Amino acid sequence: MELDGKLAIVTGASRGIGRAIALELGRAGATVLVNYRSDEAAAQAVVDALDGRGIAVRADVSTQEGVDALFAAAEAHGGPQIVVNNAGITDDNLTVRMTDEQWLRVLDTNATGCFRMCRAALTAMFRKREGSIVNIVSISGIRGNPGQANYSASKAAVIGLTRTLAKEMGRRGIRVNAVAPGFVQTDMVADVDEKVLEAAKAAIPMRRLGKPEDIAPLVRFLAGPGAVYVTGQVIAVDGGMSC
Ligand code: NAP
Repeated sequence: MELDGKLAIVTGASRGIGRAIALELGRAGATVLVNYRSDEAAAQAVVDALDGRGIAVRADVSTQEGVDALFAAAEAHGGPQIVVNNAGITDDNLTVRMTDEQWLRVLDTNATGCFRMCRAALTAMFRKREGSIVNIVSISGIRGNPGQANYSASKAAVIGLTRTLAKEMGRRGIRVNAVAPGFVQTDMVADVDEKVLEAAKAAIPMRRLGKPEDIAPLVRFLAGPGAVYVTGQVIAVDGGMSC
């Protein structure tokens, strides 16, 4: 299989999109570090499903200590060739009511956490002179979304980071891309009002919300040899919502 012998880190892999990505990379032959923040049982279930190819690592990627712990665990298994920065949170509010705390919490996890993960990944990948980083962003980071100034700004920051790293790292054989899901059925959208979901579906040419399994195959492709000349790209997986 195309990812045999590769070590992948997937952040926020205990559920949702990260879980689907971890399982897909495992199916492609990779050994996967299944990162999670709090839900050990859920992470262990992913490791069990990976059938000998998974290792659970508890770490809060919004902190430098968490990122260091995650990379220490990866180095103990030979260092990563693939890093998928998927961990993300929302804390929605209209901008006039948004507190500094809401803004900073989302930026710390989604943007600063991703920056620190990428910085550590580059150090690990320099030595191998190969690597693929895939950042999970959102079409909210491209188009904006009412009530999500913090989230949209965090994802727009990661898009800028992705393109910059691709330019800095291309000659070293390290590729950096972003995947931008639309509306995907996970815990993240569990509290969204039914009427809002119906309106979202109506605005999607394919007339349905996404599933985590819709996102994972593109990440597998970007991580693997078929994407050897693809870098600096932001690819939407959204049923046509942003076209
Ligand atoms: P989810 O179901 O809420 O899962 C989030 C995952 O991230 C969980 O595994 C959680 O771990 C982990 N996590 C959160 N903060 C963390 C931290 N500081 N350190 C380590 N792990 C952390 O979310 P999702 O819907 O799958 O979203 C995954 C990614 O896709 C996010 O970046 C999100 O912004 C993006 N996205 C989602 C949608 C959507 O519609 N769902 C659309 C566009 C983009 P614990 O459970 O252990 O806390």
